[in-house]
Amino acid sequence: MSIEVRNLHKTFGNFTALNNVSLDFPTGELVALLGPSGCGKTTLLRIIAGLENPDNGSVLFHGEDATDVHVRERNVGFVFQHYALFRHMTVFDNVAFGLSVRPKETRPSKEEIKRRVHELLKLVQLDWLADRYPHQLSGGQRQRIALARALAVEPKVLLLDEPFGALDAKVRKDLRRWLRRLHDELHITSIFVTHDQEEAMEVADRIVVLNKGKIEQIGSPDDIYNNPASPFVYDFIGQVNLFHSRVENGWAHIGDYKLPAPEFNGINNRTAVAYVRPHDIELTQDNSEGSIPATISHVSTAGSVLRIELKNNLSDDVIHVELPRSHERSLDLSVGANVFARPTSSKVFLQG
Ligand code: ATP
Repeated sequence: MSIEVRNLHKTFGNFTALNNVSLDFPTGELVALLGPSGCGKTTLLRIIAGLENPDNGSVLFHGEDATDVHVRERNVGFVFQHYALFRHMTVFDNVAFGLSVRPKETRPSKEEIKRRVHELLKLVQLDWLADRYPHQLSGGQRQRIALARALAVEPKVLLLDEPFGALDAKVRKDLRRWLRRLHDELHITSIFVTHDQEEAMEVADRIVVLNKGKIEQIGSPDDIYNNPASPFVYDFIGQVNLFHSRVENGWAHIGDYKLPAPEFNGINNRTAVAYVRPHDIELTQDNSEGSIPATISHVSTAGSVLRIELKNNLSDDVIHVELPRSHERSLDLSVGANVFARPTSSKVFLQG
C-alpha cells in the first residue's frame, strides 16, 4: 500500500515538531526517516500510524484520506525500540495475540492461528523458542518476536521506530541485515525511524533526511551520500572535511590554493565552505597547484584502507583522508612528514 503525507504540521505548545512536511512512500519500499534527536521522525511516524493527530495536513493510504481513520482501522504493524512483549505470555501466545483477539466473525480457527504463528516464527527464524517467555530471550530475539507479532495481522504497512536502538552494536548490525532480507521477501511498505546514518544507508531503499521538522533531502542511499543537497546533509551523513574558502568567479580559494566551483561562475567575493569526503583527497609529497600543505599527525588502518589525519598548515584544522593501503609504499606517512593534500571532488556552499 502506498502512503502519502501532505502538508503535515504539528506543534507541541510553541514548539514546531513538523513544519509543512509532504512526501510519498511508494508501495513495497523500505524508507528510512533519518535525522538527529528531536527532528520530528517519531512524530511523523506516529501521525502515519494514527497515534497522533496533525494540526494541519493529511495522510493518504492508497490515495484515500486516512487522516481521521482510527489507528485500529489502519492495518499497520508497529515495532518500537522498547516494544514490551506481554511478559506473562509465551512467545507463541504473544505472536498469536493480534489474531486471537479479533471479533469472532473474522477470527481464524485455532488450527489456522497455530499454523500462522509457526509460519511467522519460522520467518523470523525463531520457531524453536515458541514455548519460552520474554524474559528467557535475548534483546535481539525479543525484537524479532515483536516483528513476528506485528506481521501476524498481515499489515499493509510496517512502522518501525528505532527497533534495534537498544541492542548492542554487533546484534544491531546482524538484525538490520536480517530485516533487509526479510523485507526483500515480504515487500511490505515499511517506514523505519533511525538516527543512525549507517543503519539507514544499509537498510533503506530510500532515505528521508529530516532536520528541525523539515525535509532536507529525499534520495537513495547513494544519492544522499554522493550528492548531499545541503551542508546539513553533508555533515550528518558520513565523515566530511570542511575547507573555509572564498569564491571568485568559478573557483573556491583556500589560502593560495583553489578548487573548481563552476556552479559559481560570475559570482565574486563570497565566503563559502567546500565539503570534501575523506576518500576524495589525494596526497602527494610534491607541491602542485590546487594542493594544501599539511603535516601527518596520525595514521591507522581499517581493513584495506588507511585512515590518515593531517594538520592543515593553512588553518590548523584537521583533515581526514582515506587511501587504499597500497599508498603506504609510495608515500612517507610517518608522523610529522610534510605532504600536500589535493581534493579531487568537492561541493561548495556559499555562506551568508
Ligand atoms: P528522537 O530520535 O530523540 O526520538 P525524534 O526525531 O523522533 O527524536 P520526535 O519524538 O518526533 O523527535 O519529537 C520532535 C520534537 O517534539 C522534540 O523536540 C520533542 O521534545 C517534541 N515532542 C514530541 N512529542 C511531544 C509531546 N507529546 N509533548 C511535547 N513535546 C513533544
